[in-house]
Amino acid sequence: MNSPAGYLDSHLHLQAQHLELTLGSILERAEKAGVERMFCNATREEDWQAVINLADRGKEAGGKQLIVPFLGIHPWFAESAGTGWEERLLARLQECPAGIGEIGLDKCCRADFDRQQRVFEAQLSMASALRRPVAIHCVKAWGLLLEILEHLAAAKQLPAIMIHAYGGSTETLQRLIGLGCFISFSCRLIADHKGHSSFLATPLPLLLLETDSQGRLSVADARDGAGATDSQGRLSVANAREEAGGATAAPTQARSVQPVETENHEISCNEPADVPSLYAWAAAMWGIEEQELRQRIWSNGEIFTDTILPR
Ligand SMILES: [Zn+2]
Repeated sequence: MNSPAGYLDSHLHLQAQHLELTLGSILERAEKAGVERMFCNATREEDWQAVINLADRGKEAGGKQLIVPFLGIHPWFAESAGTGWEERLLARLQECPAGIGEIGLDKCCRADFDRQQRVFEAQLSMASALRRPVAIHCVKAWGLLLEILEHLAAAKQLPAIMIHAYGGSTETLQRLIGLGCFISFSCRLIADHKGHSSFLATPLPLLLLETDSQGRLSVADARDGAGATDSQGRLSVANAREEAGGATAAPTQARSVQPVETENHEISCNEPADVPSLYAWAAAMWGIEEQELRQRIWSNGEIFTDTILPR
């Protein structure tokens, strides 16, 4: 019998500049909450080094790879990727066992969609060639995403894929499952009743859970202070949009959800220490023990990152 697994937060952005001052306490709370692994995603070339530094810092802290780096260019920043970015990303990936993320397609952002597609496909080919896991962001571009992924699968070149903060239809979900993609759900799912059927239709061996954490200006204040609201806690619209995938940025409310008990029934999931609330909710939805779900998701994360993490 395996020893009990820690929590995996399968998608977040700890490198966000505004977190610099609070990062130490965010990591401390994550450790206390039992979070033992976090997939930390870059969004543009400017933050690749910060993500690598975080991953190294995690390693120094105690052997286990606490922070797993993902390097890439997010669709929102597709247009600002400087000339030669492909060579520079390739060089980084060759020197560092990182995944590729956060990359994808987003029809709700301003970046030119053709440019997004070119940047996305270039990163996918790198992932195929180097056998790296990929963290994908997709907003209202599911048809094209499926076309690209199914084409790669037919050519036996599909790398390990995780769709982060899944928000597509159950039909799309079935095709992604057919391709063996991991499907990650964020805390927004709790309040998003439409998403519950997708969540329950995702086979446990492909399920991942995430906070997509951007942190808050003052996490402690936001968590402990009476009346501290989301609008006080966030630093910028860009951060709020990132977390909301371009949609609403309201904190998730666990009004009708059992058995998660939190103050004011609010699960904000603004930092990795909040991920156990999502696990508790998810386990209750599945009707399984939380520990069993934790073990399963830990192992899903290991399978997903198999080519970059020694097991
Ligand atoms: Zn993200």
